[in-house]
Amino acid sequence: MNKQVFDSQKRPLRDLRISVTDKCNFRCQYCMPAEIFGPDYPFLPQHKLLTFEEITRLTSIFTSMGVEKIRITGGEPLMRRNIADLIGMIREVEGVRDIAMTTNGSLLAKHAEELKRAGLDRVTVSLDSLDDERFGVINGRGYRVSQILQGIEAAAEAGLGVKINMVVQRGVNDQDILPMARYFREKGHILRFIEFMDVGNSNGWKLDQVVPSREIIQMIHSEMPLEPTNPNYYGEVASRYRYVGTDQEIGLISSVTQAFCSTCTRARLSAEGKMYNCLFASNGEDLREPLREGKSDEEIQEMIRSIWHRRDDRYSEERLKNTPGLPKRNKVEMSHIGG
Ligand code: SAM
Ligand code: SF4
Ligand code: SF4
Repeated sequence: MNKQVFDSQKRPLRDLRISVTDKCNFRCQYCMPAEIFGPDYPFLPQHKLLTFEEITRLTSIFTSMGVEKIRITGGEPLMRRNIADLIGMIREVEGVRDIAMTTNGSLLAKHAEELKRAGLDRVTVSLDSLDDERFGVINGRGYRVSQILQGIEAAAEAGLGVKINMVVQRGVNDQDILPMARYFREKGHILRFIEFMDVGNSNGWKLDQVVPSREIIQMIHSEMPLEPTNPNYYGEVASRYRYVGTDQEIGLISSVTQAFCSTCTRARLSAEGKMYNCLFASNGEDLREPLREGKSDEEIQEMIRSIWHRRDDRYSEERLKNTPGLPKRNKVEMSHIGG
């Protein structure tokens, strides 16, 4: 039975982002800076992670409340052992229409085929530069671009839908905008530019590090003319453009300059089983203990309903209104809930 649930701003619960690990083999400065996420960092012990069975059960409860789209994320989701088994289990859940994964791509070449076989529909691969030196600095571990490009091609060959996400930071990788656009236009993959956000508490965000989407569009348009296309569906976060005279698209996710909270239908589940109503939330509500205490599906459904019901988060819209005076808040780290 579909018991669709709406929050206090009348936004339905439609998407669930599941973080399957808080660990990552990269140390992107904007997400898990090496100074903070060092060798002694207390990552979650195995027993605190939701098991595959627990994740699948929660997925099924969420789908009974209107969720149709699942995104697996992290940390780096391909670091979680036997992750394809989880994809297979989620695929069996009634009501799941779409399963996507966000990954840094470094382990994708190895796993693409088994992920596709298990039932994954799409991957979003994060890649911020095509320049080895800059990319090595950005990922904090010296990984090379070719490894990610191989992952991208393996995913496409396996039949997975592929999109590339590039987080743009002024003075860090804005010189990579055009080379990235040219390269992925040629390859026929959709590239999406993401405005650098003030997620978590450790990335030292400043507004002048954000390259606004309209600036990116102008830059690309002056070399390769673009035209807007219509949004695909309610709540689509990317504005989409097409290279004139082709079917090839790019997307822009203007989370800072054109916030889209009013249509935000995403709930987030951390690797330890806390539900978050917003990427910028300070606190999550624990669902793991109720699961382990033996609560019924109906009882957990009621908890989720009440958490979503109370939801009034619209952080990005609020930031847009008053960035300079924005009160400091303690936000969940991106590596816990996966973007
Ligand atoms: N490790 C995987 C990856 O990098 O794709 C999945 C988790 S990662 C936290 C999810 C996405 O969040 C990535 O595309 C990453 O680039 C993006 N991200 C992380 N920190 C960000 C920030 N401060 N602003 C904008 N996007 C960010
Ligand atoms: Fe890892 Fe992804 Fe965060 Fe980079 S953005 S540190 S790859 S979780
Ligand atoms: Fe959704 Fe929160 Fe982002 Fe707004 S700030 S779009 S409510 S996750």
